[in-house]
Amino acid sequence: MSEPNVPEMEENSNKKTASGRRNERPRRKSGKSADSWQPKEFEVPKVEGKLRFHDFNLPDVVMHAIADLGFEYASPIQAETIPAALSGKDIIGKAQTGTGKTAAFLLGIITDLIDYPLDDNKRLGEPRALIVAPTRELALQIAADANDLSKYTDLHVVSLVGGMDYDKQRQQLKKCPVDILVATPGRLIDFINRKDVDLWNVEVLVLDEADRMLSMGFIPDVRTIIRNTPRKGTDRQTLLYSATFTDDILNLAAQWTFDAIKMEIESERKTTDNITQQVYLVSSSEKYRLLRNYMDKDHAEKVIVFCNRRDQTRKLAERLTRDGIKAALMSGEIAQQKRVRTLEDFRSGKIQVLVATDVAGRGIHIDGVTHVINYQLPEDADDYVHRIGRTGRAGATGTSICFACEDDSFLIPEIESETGVKLDCIHPGPELLQAVNKPPQAEQGDQEQNDVEQRPA
Ligand code: AMP
Repeated sequence: MSEPNVPEMEENSNKKTASGRRNERPRRKSGKSADSWQPKEFEVPKVEGKLRFHDFNLPDVVMHAIADLGFEYASPIQAETIPAALSGKDIIGKAQTGTGKTAAFLLGIITDLIDYPLDDNKRLGEPRALIVAPTRELALQIAADANDLSKYTDLHVVSLVGGMDYDKQRQQLKKCPVDILVATPGRLIDFINRKDVDLWNVEVLVLDEADRMLSMGFIPDVRTIIRNTPRKGTDRQTLLYSATFTDDILNLAAQWTFDAIKMEIESERKTTDNITQQVYLVSSSEKYRLLRNYMDKDHAEKVIVFCNRRDQTRKLAERLTRDGIKAALMSGEIAQQKRVRTLEDFRSGKIQVLVATDVAGRGIHIDGVTHVINYQLPEDADDYVHRIGRTGRAGATGTSICFACEDDSFLIPEIESETGVKLDCIHPGPELLQAVNKPPQAEQGDQEQNDVEQRPA
């Protein structure tokens, strides 16, 4: 990949200082409920080796939102990021989703915006903080988290993502000045080109899941976006997160950040520590039965099943639905509005199984996912790490199962070396391969399904 080696030429002239002014932090009372709520109403006992949110000197309005969310102790990435971000430093962070990284950067941003309000009238479409994320779902999730954490402030959060109505998003920008803008690269560029957004006043830029932006081919877009923001270092604070630190990512990070603190949160180990991982060696024709029997046996309540291609996800989701399972499809072929609704139904338990591709699956940030099932092994071991990160979130336990068949079991060693975990490979017992029950309406006219289900004689 040669793209990341292009020298940095995109920085603009000095305009104003963002990070440089943070030497002293004036704390003003601000926000909707600043006077009515006190942090002392939110008691969290001190525990050796852990930081409470009380220990960061966050504004009361932010503490109030944290209390509502029930966050008590900072996760490791929060403990590292929040003080560094508040001191105005650039950060290159290696961390996956599920580690609390979203709140880590949002808390820094929200605190800054509260502590340093702009004196002059703000113009429309000129965000002070910009968060760029690779997928629509991730961007919407970040915006939802930003709204949760800023709910007692006057800050205005807007998300600009592809696949949704441009004009409606434009209306959001026209309503009142935006403070925090969360966007996917392509749609943001549309807004910039049509002069509906001006990034000239961005003080904090977050590039989330930079490795995914690279693998999805977004780097030229990100470059254009950065070129439209103020100069790094003195005028713009930059926080870049990536699940992996490849040479390409470190190269980009070096171009886009200034004197950054590099932090590596041991999330992979931590993430996999609370996730049980198991590989079933199975023929491709037995996978469906194994899936159904396994879900029954293990009482799998909230399951994400990953396939490698859209058509495979569609066929599997249709088949599960025909067989009476509350399943839904989460792939690029599903319209954005529907995806948001599907995620909501999955979150609330109306849907038991989401069948997802890797790209769409990365947008699933839902706690309480009990099982991730790799119906096909991912061709890229990185994707395995991302897949299993959908479960075992926020310290909960989870299970990751791989169905490895004649076509893909050769990928196991690569996954093992990526995760550093030796995977336990077993053959499923007969109870996991027995014929599955179908609802009466599915008994007839389902020849294709029965064909696939025939066990070899
Ligand atoms: P993220 O890694 O940002 O996707 O966050 C994973 C999940 O952890 C989200 O549901 C957050 O709401 C939750 N979370 C983040 N920080 C904390 C915390 N300090 N305590 C408990 N839960 C948290």
